[in-house]
Amino acid sequence: MKKLFLLGLSGILLTACAPKTAKQTEFMLDTICTITIYEEKNKEKTADELIEEAFELCSGYEDMLSRTIEGSDIYKLNNSGGTPVEVSDDTVEILEAAKRYSELSDGAFDITTAPLSILWDFEGEDPHVPPEDQIQAMTEKIDYTKIKIDGNTVTLEAPVEAIDLGAIAKGYIADRTADYLRENGVTSAYISLGGNLYAIGSNSQEKRPFRLGIQDPKSTDGSIIGYVEVSDKSLVTSGDYQRFFEEDGKRYHHILDPETGYPTDNGLSSVTIVSDKSLDGDALSTACFVLGLDDGMKLINSLDGIEAVFIDSSNEIYLSDGFGKTIEFYDAE
Ligand code: ADP
Ligand code: MG
Repeated sequence: MKKLFLLGLSGILLTACAPKTAKQTEFMLDTICTITIYEEKNKEKTADELIEEAFELCSGYEDMLSRTIEGSDIYKLNNSGGTPVEVSDDTVEILEAAKRYSELSDGAFDITTAPLSILWDFEGEDPHVPPEDQIQAMTEKIDYTKIKIDGNTVTLEAPVEAIDLGAIAKGYIADRTADYLRENGVTSAYISLGGNLYAIGSNSQEKRPFRLGIQDPKSTDGSIIGYVEVSDKSLVTSGDYQRFFEEDGKRYHHILDPETGYPTDNGLSSVTIVSDKSLDGDALSTACFVLGLDDGMKLINSLDGIEAVFIDSSNEIYLSDGFGKTIEFYDAE
């Protein structure tokens, strides 16, 4: 069996030879994170100091939201045995958003898929296709309506045993990081948390919006299939090439269909969402990837201010209704 593990670098910033005010890369949130500041008006701190503080903020959120870090809100919930747990305001906000996107997607997006993700173990040393009966048993534990929120008290009611914010937390953290940088005088910057991108302002060096690339799902070297030009927007991609393993010549990727218990298999290779808030983009990219082209596109076109690029397994590109009106898609040269 061949194990392939690729980091979710699905979005790429395209820039000519812009000199950077500061740029740093860290491995956190289970992925490669980069923050680049092009322009800031902070009188007390350097761009490098601002980036360091922004990474500290991300790391604090990881300690709060990770499923595997002991003492995190999610760790406490997953080990609560169904008893109420006090969590932070941030956790409540994310859980409420997660439930909203579960409702909107009719359960295609569901953070209570955690026991199933744990069974598949995509991040493990030697992942295999789990036995059918175990997959079915884990699908019984999926039901977002059993996450009960009362103020800051959260209870996971049976049959739900665990939650995982992998499909939404990076979006929330990207938004908070952008807020933090803006509040500290940053006027032009680019945040990349794996597949979650956020552009603050426009590209001050090149005097135009940021160009954010969408990866060619078939490329192995991260080359792009097209790009959009945006300012103050998020771009998030979910794809079948980000984390996966192969067994008997078939690819098994990390986005699971809560109905079947297996990786989504609907002919899509990736879904990219452009939105004001990265939280929305993160949840919707995963939701639409599971929903498939028809239902996913219907959902996007019903939402204001949110656009999507769907790419199928033949590399056919499908654009939501706002393209050509509020935003353009450009083919890679
Ligand atoms: P990435 O891991 O690249 O950020 P996504 O945002 O699409 O990609 O999130 C995928 C992660 O979300 C998985 O690794 C798993 O932890 C979790 N997950 C898998 N399937 C679902 C689903 N149907 N709904 C919600 N979360 C899911
Ligand atoms: Mg997501």
